[in-house]
Amino acid sequence: MAANTDAQKKDGAPVATFKLVLVGDGGTGKTTFVKRHLTGEFEKRYVATLGVEVHPLVFYTNFGPIRFDVWDTAGQEKFGGLRDGYYIGGQCAIIFFDVTSRVTYKNVPNWHRDLVRVLENVPIVLCGNKVDIKDRKVKAKQITFHRKKNLQYYDISAKSNYNFEKPFLWLARKISGEAGLQFVEAPALAPPEVKVDPALMAQYEKELNQAANMALPDDENDDDDL
Ligand code: GDP
Ligand code: MG
Repeated sequence: MAANTDAQKKDGAPVATFKLVLVGDGGTGKTTFVKRHLTGEFEKRYVATLGVEVHPLVFYTNFGPIRFDVWDTAGQEKFGGLRDGYYIGGQCAIIFFDVTSRVTYKNVPNWHRDLVRVLENVPIVLCGNKVDIKDRKVKAKQITFHRKKNLQYYDISAKSNYNFEKPFLWLARKISGEAGLQFVEAPALAPPEVKVDPALMAQYEKELNQAANMALPDDENDDDDL
C-alpha cells in the first residue's frame, strides 16, 4: 500500500504515513483514546473544512517508524453518519463501541457498512472500550461481528491505557505485510486515570479465546446477536 511521505525521520528520510479513521457511536471513547498518545495530541491539526482533528501518532518498529494520521470527529457522529470526506483516502480504520452500552455494539454493523462503502478493502479493528467498568454489558461471546467480516477484535480501556497499542500493532502488520513487525519503543502515553483488575482482564481474554472457537450464529441479520 502506498504511504504518504510528508513526515521526516531524523536523518531526513520520509516516515511511512497512513490515514486511520476512527468511527463508532458518540460517547464510546474515540477522542479519549486518541488523546492518550502525547506527541500525537501535541502535534494534532484541525481540518476546518470537515470539522475534524488529525493526530499524528508515531510508533517505532523493527522495520523503522510508522505514522498513523488518526482522524477524529468533533462529535458529528452523534447526529447521524459522517460525510464521505471523512473516509476518503483512509487506509485503515478502528470501529469503537462501549462494552457498557449494548446499543453502541448494535450500531457496529452500520458503522462498518458506512466505512466499506467508501473504503472497500482496508484493514479494520473493532474495539470494545471501557472494560475497566465493572458492570460490563457486552460480553465476549456476544461479540461476533468481527468474525463475520474478518476484522480483528480487542477489548480496550482508553482511560487505563489497557491494550492501547494492540490495534496499532495489528494494523501496522497488515499494512506492511510483515507479520514479524514489533514495536521497539513504547509511545509516551498520558498516565492512567483508572486501573484495570489484571485478574479480570485475564478472565476476559480467556472468554474471548473460548468465544473464538465457538460456531458462529448462522443468522443473516446482524442485529440478532444480543
Ligand atoms: P467519543 O464521543 O467517542 O469521542 O467519546 P469520548 O472520548 O468523548 O468519551 C465519552 C465519555 O466516556 C467521556 O466521559 C470519557 O471520559 C468516557 N470514557 C472514554 N473512555 C473510557 C474508558 O476507557 N473508561 C471509562 N470508564 N470511561 C471512558
Ligand atoms: Mg469525540
